[in-house]
This record gives sequence, structure tokens and C-alpha cells, in this order.
Amino acid sequence: MSGDGEAVVAAVERVAERLEAERDHLTQLDSAIGDADHGGNMARGWAKAAETARDLDDPDPETVAKTVGKTLMAEVGGASGPLFGGSLVFAGAELEGGITPETAVAFAETYLEKVEDRGDARVGDHTMVDALTPAVHTFKKSIETDERPPLEALAKATDAAERGVAFTVPIRARKGRASYLGWRSVGHQDPGATSTLFILQELLRTVAD
Ligand code: ADP
Ligand code: MG
Ligand code: MG
Repeated sequence: MSGDGEAVVAAVERVAERLEAERDHLTQLDSAIGDADHGGNMARGWAKAAETARDLDDPDPETVAKTVGKTLMAEVGGASGPLFGGSLVFAGAELEGGITPETAVAFAETYLEKVEDRGDARVGDHTMVDALTPAVHTFKKSIETDERPPLEALAKATDAAERGVAFTVPIRARKGRASYLGWRSVGHQDPGATSTLFILQELLRTVAD
């Protein structure tokens, strides 16, 4: 297995373990403002994705990302399957030449763009976009403008995502199931923003090791 492909498979395995550990937590968040399936959706989808990624023969990062995306689309229904999975399939194409600071930025930007295209949510709508947008912008700026190494940029991006998750608590949901509650969605943390943060934290841990 090539070094980068192996590292991406390891990251996917870590994400799967973390989401399994957070299954009940994410389900609780979704039961307050949704249909109580986000923990199961993520844990089941990423477990299958990790299994599928492990079975790949000598994979490169692009193949791993696309395989994970397709598996999430197939395993997870609802809003989050196509959002996480479909976006990953598109973003994975940016890793064609391997993982460099430039392709990592392109991957992150394409991923965000596809989530926005599919879900039509923007910052302030109380969705995963609230965690993802500051993370992607911080990552790009940190690498391109501040010329920070990828590990430091990813650490800053994860901090930005954490603030984005906190930002969902006091705002009203305008997209997704939580929007059906109107003002009653205020005071609740968004499940998809939270799982997005967990994924970033595990990517950071993998890169840091
Ligand atoms: P479902 O709502 O279909 O049950 P999940 O519970 O797995 O799916 O995922 C819910 C999460 O999906 C929300 O917390 C939110 O972050 C995200 N989400 C829902 N709709 C959208 C959307 N239109 N754009 C971006 N993210 C969305
Ligand atoms: Mg749900
Ligand atoms: Mg559902």
C-alpha cells in the first residue's frame, strides 16, 4: 500500500471508531431537533466505509476518498448520506496527484462547494455548513496566506469548526429537519456540524501521529 493511501485508510478507520463512540451523543442531539438517527447514520456509514477502504488493493488517496464517499451514499439515507458522501466523491478527484498542501486545499474547497450545492445551506442556517465553512476558509488562509504547515493549518481549521459548532446553538435552523421546528430549534447544537467536527478532530490526530 502506498504511504498516502495507507494514511487515508488509517484516518477513515479512526473516524469510524470515533463516530461509533459518539453514536449516542449524536443521536441525542438529533432527537432534540430531528429524527434521532444521526448517530446511527454516521456510525453505520463510516464503519462500512472503513471496511470497504481496508479491502482496497494498494489504494491511492483519490480512490480511498471516492470509495468512502460512494459507501456513505449507499449506506446512509436522509440528508447526511448524499451531503457527506456525494461531496466526498467529487472532492476526492482533487487528490488525483496525491496529497500536497495545494491538493488538500482544493479537496477542502470542493467538498464545501458540493455540500453547499446539494443542500443549499449557508453559514447561519444551523447545519454542518456552520462548522465546515470556517474550517475550510481557515485551512486555506493558513496554508496560502500565513504559509503554515498543513498540520498547523488543520489544527486551526479544527478550532474554527469547534467555534462553528458552538455558533449553531443560539441560532434558528433554516435548512434540514430542524427547520421544521422554527424558533424551537434555538438552543440546540446541530448534529451534522458536530459530526463534522469529530471527523476533523480525527483527521488532525492522524496527521499529528
Ligand atoms: P436526516 O435529517 O435526513 O435524518 P441526519 O440526521 O443524518 O439526516 O443528518 C442531519 C444533519 O444534516 C443536520 O444536523 C445538518 O447538519 C445536516 N443537514 C440537513 N439538511 C442540510 C442541508 N440542506 N444542507 C446542509 N446540511 C444539512
Ligand atoms: Mg436525522
Ligand atoms: Mg433521518
